[in-house]
Amino acid sequence: MSQLNLILLGPPGAGKGTQADRLRDDFVLPHISTGDILREQVTEGTELGKEAKRYMDAGELVPDDVIVGMITDRLTDAHPPDARDGFLLDGFPRNETQADALKEALDKLGRRLSAVLLIEVPDDDLVRRLAGRRVCVKNPTHIYHVDFDPPKHDDVCDQDGARLMQRDDDREETIRNRLHVYHSQTEPLIDYYDEAGLLRRFDGRRNPDEVHRHIRATVATLRLEDEF
Ligand SMILES: [Zn+2]
Repeated sequence: MSQLNLILLGPPGAGKGTQADRLRDDFVLPHISTGDILREQVTEGTELGKEAKRYMDAGELVPDDVIVGMITDRLTDAHPPDARDGFLLDGFPRNETQADALKEALDKLGRRLSAVLLIEVPDDDLVRRLAGRRVCVKNPTHIYHVDFDPPKHDDVCDQDGARLMQRDDDREETIRNRLHVYHSQTEPLIDYYDEAGLLRRFDGRRNPDEVHRHIRATVATLRLEDEF
């Protein structure tokens, strides 16, 4: 049985979470978000979780080897072992050093990456997407967008009449800063995987259904190629 060991790459706001959800349903692959497993292990108080917490409490970044240890655990220890046929990794690696560490860990497990799926969206489009978001002060699940899904009255929630606000995370300056970090650290990673012949590019400016169809077709082809 061929494995689909996939990494999902792309800037904040490119729709990685949405695509991961859909691919998980298409190919029955667990979506492994390093942010989620880090939170889980800290909450459950595992050895790695305790170690990670010490760094977090000191206001430091959790070291790569701790995160890689958590990914290795997630790939091998889950009950039932849902990652035997592959996985969809999201949030790691974010730079070349982490990519090397991940490769080493996968080598030890006798696994190799099948592909790296890159969802590309220009910065200005991302800023427009994210900075236009407005959230209800009463209920944060009431979400609007000034261009794509505007409320009937400016800055007022259609559902309960409460005021709409822009979250700090959605402010243009914050978004530009995050994009700057992405470009400086993660972009070299794109070349890294391109040179390894693993990179597959997708146009994230298209609507989510189209992006999904393209990714699904590519992944289905990968699986076929691997079987022959
Ligand atoms: Zn509301």
